[in-house]
Amino acid sequence: MEFKLSTRRSDSVFIVDLAGKITAGDALSALRQTIRDEVAKGHTKILLNLKDVSYIDSSGLGELIMALGTVTQTICAKCGATVFKDDEGNWDPCPQCESRDRKPWGELKLSNPGRQVMDLLQFTKLYTVFDVHQSEEEALTSFRSR
Ligand SMILES: [Zn+2]
Repeated sequence: MEFKLSTRRSDSVFIVDLAGKITAGDALSALRQTIRDEVAKGHTKILLNLKDVSYIDSSGLGELIMALGTVTQTICAKCGATVFKDDEGNWDPCPQCESRDRKPWGELKLSNPGRQVMDLLQFTKLYTVFDVHQSEEEALTSFRSR
């Protein structure tokens, strides 16, 4: 099946429906652009629905990790500015307000992974890095409970 990407909303959650193969090429750039656009629009709750994804290769997996990094980047809990780590890996205070309170910008979850995707996530031990849900309903509920 050809790669397809479409988007919809459920309350405050932005859902990206992915289908087909997520492999190097157009699929990855489309996914990356979509995530960037949504983050730029201020959508903090993003769900990647993998129900119709037939296959993900290692570059596709890399793109999912990149998406997670984009959505969950660390920001200042007071003013929302992006905060950074120093050379030793310790968090610097906020460059704008000097606060040391931090939080992740948003949340990214995965739902309905198929057999191949689940195997890949477990084999690479990334199953614990992502918040993976077996159904869309379950994933939406977990967003709302925060
Ligand atoms: Zn700040």
